[in-house]
Amino acid sequence: MHSFELYMPTRLVYGADSIEKLAAAAAPYGKRVLITYGGGSVVRSGLLDRVKKALTGFEVVEFSGIEPNPRVTSVNAAAKLAREQKADFIVAVGGGSVIDASKAIAAAVKYDGDAWDLVKDGSLIKDALPLFSVLTLAATGSEYDAPGVISNMDTNEKQAISSPLLFPKASFCDPSVSASVPAWHTAAGAADIMSHTFEQYLVIEGNDVSDGFCETILKTVIKNAPICIKDPTNLESRSAMMLASSFGCCGLLAIGNMPSPWPCHAIEHEISAWHDITHGVGLAIITPHWMRYSLNEKTAPRFAQYAVNVWGMDPKGDVMELANAAIDKTAEFFASIGIPQRLSEVGVDDSHFEAMADHIPTCWWPLSGALRPIDKAGVIEILRASL
Ligand code: ZN
Repeated sequence: MHSFELYMPTRLVYGADSIEKLAAAAAPYGKRVLITYGGGSVVRSGLLDRVKKALTGFEVVEFSGIEPNPRVTSVNAAAKLAREQKADFIVAVGGGSVIDASKAIAAAVKYDGDAWDLVKDGSLIKDALPLFSVLTLAATGSEYDAPGVISNMDTNEKQAISSPLLFPKASFCDPSVSASVPAWHTAAGAADIMSHTFEQYLVIEGNDVSDGFCETILKTVIKNAPICIKDPTNLESRSAMMLASSFGCCGLLAIGNMPSPWPCHAIEHEISAWHDITHGVGLAIITPHWMRYSLNEKTAPRFAQYAVNVWGMDPKGDVMELANAAIDKTAEFFASIGIPQRLSEVGVDDSHFEAMADHIPTCWWPLSGALRPIDKAGVIEILRASL
């Protein structure tokens, strides 16, 4: 087992009455709140009104229109509004995009300059507004971690902003809220949770504890995502998915492991930076091809473990056959929940593959640390196989 530190300071508040606990948690931070949200689904579902009712007595300012791949232009605009209105804290109402953007807004409010500077260099973040989140979508785990991912469409970059100052103070998670999430976003969220888990599970060396956490999350999503899509109001399955989301990205799943460079996320961020596709969909398309790229005699036992412990295959089977069958099962699962199988189906062509592969080393951990090391040619091979 490798040395590690686990820091999870966010208070996680789950349950049907969780949102009503927001005011008490926020009260010590002031009276003026900036509520951030996306395209209006939280208005239509009535969630925004519920949040505002929970904040009765506070002075509320709203910023809406945060994009699915949140843009630095929105971050700068919201930070300007928060400064003008002298907001004391932020409440992000939405999924990962809104929470990610709100982390960047919280930092940008306290920074005299372009928020993109803070994405490029997290050490410039010296202070941030307190942030709370009200979660709508089981996906990114942003409700329970520090980083956020921000896009700059001028430079075709999608990168993480991170600082220990960006953990939400508390996140309020009522799984019944996610009943209104449509099938496409439910499926994309499921793929994102699974990808976070694969990035921490299919690594050079695991351990019994981290492997057990990862296998539980994968089995939870495989069981419950199809139920949520067929029966969107199934509260038990929505609850399982939301909990799987919260624990997917907080460091728990990789506990005691050598850090992994999260190669599918490295590649997906490049694709989204050029083509603005749905994060989870991009991951679901790339993942089986990354798995095939990574499978060899040395790595096959890891995939065979996945086959046996997650898919319930016969442990007496041939290791390479088990590994291949598990990869096939992964691709079939993503197809079964309605996710396209090829990048070309979501409007991606090969015109920027070279630029994508060249950019990764400028902003990401070295992919030489992946299960099978990935160089520039490897990135392009995975992208081409995914087309
Ligand atoms: Zn992700």
